[in-house]
Amino acid sequence: MLKQLEGVTPQSSDYKKVKYLYGPVAIAFASTKTGSWRIMRPEVDHNQCTRCGTCAKYCPLDIIDVDKESKVQSVTMNLDYCKGCGICANVCPRKCIKMVSERGER
Ligand code: SF4
Ligand code: SF4
Repeated sequence: MLKQLEGVTPQSSDYKKVKYLYGPVAIAFASTKTGSWRIMRPEVDHNQCTRCGTCAKYCPLDIIDVDKESKVQSVTMNLDYCKGCGICANVCPRKCIKMVSERGER
């Protein structure tokens, strides 16, 4: 959802269209980098990841990109917006996403 709303303001040409689809509250919310509220963050073991895309499909904010070609970084989460809900870690069939504390505790 955030990808469609990112950068949209009441002055944008597509504001009317996205306002109809998502409503004004979602648009105002998307312009705030809500990742600062997070207390846990997802960490991916890229060696175990099969690049199946399940995490991206279930992320409620649609902020996960899966690079099927990359040998190094398979999955990228936009941490500016990730709320640390842990859904991606729960749905990963390989269990290769771990939620870690933003304060460094495990
Ligand atoms: S769900 Fe797990 S295995 Fe699938 S792309 Fe995401 S991190 Fe990789
Ligand atoms: S922790 Fe939640 S918001 Fe963050 S990437 Fe995973 S599913 Fe998306």
